[in-house]
Amino acid sequence: MKSRPKRLLASIHDVSPRFEREIDALADIVSRRLGDGAPFAMLVVPDHWGESPLSEARAFGTRLREWSDRGVEMFVHGWFHRDAAEHSGAAAFKAKHMTAGEGEFLGLPEGEAATRMADGKALIEDIIGRPVAGFIAPAWLYGEGAMKALRNSGFALAEDHMRVWRAADDTRLAHGPVITWASRSTMRTASSLLVAALGRYALRPLETVRVAVHPGDMTKPSIVRSIDATLASLVKSHIPSRYADLVS
Ligand SMILES: [Zn+2]
Repeated sequence: MKSRPKRLLASIHDVSPRFEREIDALADIVSRRLGDGAPFAMLVVPDHWGESPLSEARAFGTRLREWSDRGVEMFVHGWFHRDAAEHSGAAAFKAKHMTAGEGEFLGLPEGEAATRMADGKALIEDIIGRPVAGFIAPAWLYGEGAMKALRNSGFALAEDHMRVWRAADDTRLAHGPVITWASRSTMRTASSLLVAALGRYALRPLETVRVAVHPGDMTKPSIVRSIDATLASLVKSHIPSRYADLVS
């Protein structure tokens, strides 16, 4: 039996006019390692922290459209990114300790989650002139309301830290942890560098390997080197692919 090709899905998170410089630099690193014109994804935030509305950033919108025209897959990545809801119990613990308050969709009721998903989809599709690839919640955190809203959202795909699934019916399309880096604290950076170094080898048997980079990564040369080394290593065993390939 012929084995299926192994896929590498690379993504740039928190794409917003606020981080244009960092996103340019990350897109350069990713393109250099995956090959010119190789597919990767961008996770676009419609109004980062309520301070960077995409709708008013015309020049940046033009750039998004150019990236999309070149084959970069665009995902809706929350609306504000920041979590403004009050949590209780386990959700509060998760929000506080795992995300530094960036889990916008963890505490949203279904109605509000559905509205933000629909608004983000409409805004970004209007800018790029084609359907988005899917929805990915900030910090990969989905509350119950977000999960319910997602099923009726019209998005093809969603992902969290451990899997990619078809949004309409929860069918799992890929599994395995995302390799990603933490730039916020020295301790977390150190452990993320270690995990990435191990992941380059440990995750190699997986059919689909995901790598996610963030604007904050550009603040630490050690992370930039690790991203570069990780992509260089994985591209030997996995073909740079599109999330949409998982559906077809
Ligand atoms: Zn994010």
